[in-house]
Amino acid sequence: MSILRLSHVEIRVPDLELATAYYSEVVGLVETAREPERVFMKCWDEHQHHSVVLSYAPTHGLNHFGFKVTDAEDLDHYQARLEAAGVAVRRYGRGEWGPGHGQAIRFALPSAHQMELVHGMEQVGNLLPRTNPPPRPMGLIGMAPPRIDHVFLTAEEVETVTVFLRDVLDFRLTEQLVGDDGFQIATWLEVSHTSHDIALITGPNSGLHHFAFWVDDWNDIRTAADTCAYHGVHIETNPTRHGVTRGQCLYFFDPCGNRNEVYTGGYWTEPDAEPTTWTEAEMGRALFYYDGVVNQRFLTVHT
Ligand code: CA
Ligand code: FE
Repeated sequence: MSILRLSHVEIRVPDLELATAYYSEVVGLVETAREPERVFMKCWDEHQHHSVVLSYAPTHGLNHFGFKVTDAEDLDHYQARLEAAGVAVRRYGRGEWGPGHGQAIRFALPSAHQMELVHGMEQVGNLLPRTNPPPRPMGLIGMAPPRIDHVFLTAEEVETVTVFLRDVLDFRLTEQLVGDDGFQIATWLEVSHTSHDIALITGPNSGLHHFAFWVDDWNDIRTAADTCAYHGVHIETNPTRHGVTRGQCLYFFDPCGNRNEVYTGGYWTEPDAEPTTWTEAEMGRALFYYDGVVNQRFLTVHT
């Protein structure tokens, strides 16, 4: 019984056509289904039906995000634990929420983010044959990340959400940024034995700071920056490294204002690992190890 990894994000976009063009031609996602007000997309190496859903809305931001579980019984297990913790849970049957979607339970975090656990999403296959595959498909477009990696959310009370994720959903804390007053400014948690699958930073409830795609190495970060520059996509932070997670990264914005990241590196971890702590004095290097400073815009988040 376990939660495996980030499965998908559903983000709001005020211009569905523009966002679809950006996510398919610049990021390089594959479109798998389309409705009048939603477009379903996946990364090339993902087998499941979708990992990014664009939903038409007047604003940008996050509607919900989902984590994949191992077994259908995990949904019952976590529903019971959530309800025991006083959290209302809504259930969706297979395909009920949208094309290709699995069975799911939906609930709100203490920060009002809508989270889901999902099982049995339709498997549409990656872009490679199951027999004697080449290492990558030919003709990939744009950044072409193989898969989605993590979400970074804002919350008024980071500590409360962190405790909830640990106690109710079995996430493990890998790193924390602790303020001089002793409160957690930001936390990083994992379920997949990687440096993080979800992170939280102090800010408005229900806010999305960014979501990240995995790329395989530092050269792919450079290719992503080349792709942004070629298409005139605004790069917020040039290719660099985080102190927290040790990962390498690039930040940029979709044309609707949602912050994207491509991310690689970081470390493998195990459930008995002790969390790493960063102090407020080292916040700059915690977030951007080479610059050592965080610009104010990076800390500004809209809900
Ligand atoms: Ca991860
Ligand atoms: Fe990130």
